[in-house]
Amino acid sequence: MISDLWYKNAIIYCLSVGTYMDSNADGVGDFAGLMRRLDYISGLGVTAIWLMPFQTSPCRDDGYDVADYYNVDPRYGTLGDFVEFTHGAQQRGIRVIIDLVVNHTSDQHPWFKEARRDPNSKYRDWYVWSKTKPKGADTGMVFPGVQKTTWTRDDVANAYYFHRFYEFQPDLNTSNPHVQAEILKIMGFWIQLGVSGFRMDAVPFVISTKGADVGKPAEQYDMLRTFREFLQWRQGDSIILAEANVLPDTDMEYFGDDGDRMQMMFNFQANQNLFYALAAADSRSLAKALEATKPRPATGQWGLFLRNHDELDLGRLTDKQRQTVFDAFGPEKDMQLYDRGIRRRLAPMLRGDTRRIRLAYSLMFTLPGTPVLRYGDELGMGDDLSLPERNCARTPMQWSDEPRGGFTKSEKKLAVPVISGGAYGYEHLNAAQQRRDPDSMLNWIERIIRMRKEVPEIGWGDFRVVETGEQSVFAMRYDWRDNAVLFVHNLSEGAQEITFRLGKADTSDSLLVNLFSDDHSHADERGRHKLLLEAYAYRWYRVGGLDYLLKRSDI
Ligand code: MG
Repeated sequence: MISDLWYKNAIIYCLSVGTYMDSNADGVGDFAGLMRRLDYISGLGVTAIWLMPFQTSPCRDDGYDVADYYNVDPRYGTLGDFVEFTHGAQQRGIRVIIDLVVNHTSDQHPWFKEARRDPNSKYRDWYVWSKTKPKGADTGMVFPGVQKTTWTRDDVANAYYFHRFYEFQPDLNTSNPHVQAEILKIMGFWIQLGVSGFRMDAVPFVISTKGADVGKPAEQYDMLRTFREFLQWRQGDSIILAEANVLPDTDMEYFGDDGDRMQMMFNFQANQNLFYALAAADSRSLAKALEATKPRPATGQWGLFLRNHDELDLGRLTDKQRQTVFDAFGPEKDMQLYDRGIRRRLAPMLRGDTRRIRLAYSLMFTLPGTPVLRYGDELGMGDDLSLPERNCARTPMQWSDEPRGGFTKSEKKLAVPVISGGAYGYEHLNAAQQRRDPDSMLNWIERIIRMRKEVPEIGWGDFRVVETGEQSVFAMRYDWRDNAVLFVHNLSEGAQEITFRLGKADTSDSLLVNLFSDDHSHADERGRHKLLLEAYAYRWYRVGGLDYLLKRSDI
């Protein structure tokens, strides 16, 4: 039955174990600490947790440099702790997905050590080598401005190796069938330990052809089907959520025409255009991005997000649009990163303006797809721009006003310090304080998540953008199984009055029931609705109102 597709209407919460909760006072978050916070996560209404990498790693790229795919890094606990955690999540009805980082390994991985040491090793061909420095070695870096090349010479191997990311992250030769078989084995291992799927890192690079003689890399999409088939044989309801910042005309290559590849992809088009819409108070390019990303198989779903653990990548906007977003949300050079994005958290980008932050979330929660929240954003946590690159937005969770935000009892210097002092310091901004305040961001997020779960039309339905006559007012309608909802967002800093028609005057479209207040809308005799929207207003309406309750069988 199609409604069994849990990911179509999930609420995903992303966190990194190392910065969430430390149980043993060593200054590093761990699975035992996370276990103690599962009721907090459950209370938010989250239905799935996405764990960032926690496998054994030298941690030179926050765990995205894996040195053992089959273990938990000892800093975070043991495999036993991991299984306790997945079991605890399951008990609360929460699924767990984990990062799958298989484009590259750490240079400390035993496979790479063996490969560079011995040309006859079976692992030699698990990586990508060249006797001489290939042409184009100075192009295609993932971290421009920080990373200088994609081919680095290794003295032990007496050859150059390919690395799309940092030089300590040699690319796996994913075309090698033995490497592919190992990737399946890794998935099978974690499935057995209780996870419901994977957020696959850097998918376009994983499936790309690699090598010194590769001029223009080609994507080997069939590989995605191999991953999908294996996963579904092992555990039918497990999924892959692909990180693939690609152009809309290749979306279907990732989903598969028959829905036989990735179940989910992050919608980077919607993300970038959403920030442009907020910056310019202009919804037109967001509407275009949603139309462009509309095609997907019935079983496919978008992952929607505002900010994630990386920089806000604005590389798909026009130069002018990108400059508009920079000017509004990251004007200082120090706030920008890799020539393409902004490295800040959401709240400081929006200058702590509660109205705008809630508008942004309301938009994200009502766009077609499954919302993905990042830990700390439910509190409106800030960033620490004195930290290098993306670390500024990877600071520990702020639980209380106790020392170090209640994250750890350790007094050692932390790898990434808790934000202290100022508007975003843990002294003022923390979960304990926000739980007691009914108007806090935390309580607002809980309420909006609850409402989002009561509007399955977003995950299942067809949407269309409703013309409002104002480019700063964005209205979307969803229809599903004879039910309809309408969302209206005022992106501008001024109040707006809009008039629009949904249908004929005598149909159920004549009543819009506001889901958050008693401020309902009745159409006039010609079927027109007139709404007065305050600055940065968001409105959620059920079209036809109470009819809906009678029609729905599941409540
Ligand atoms: Mg610890």
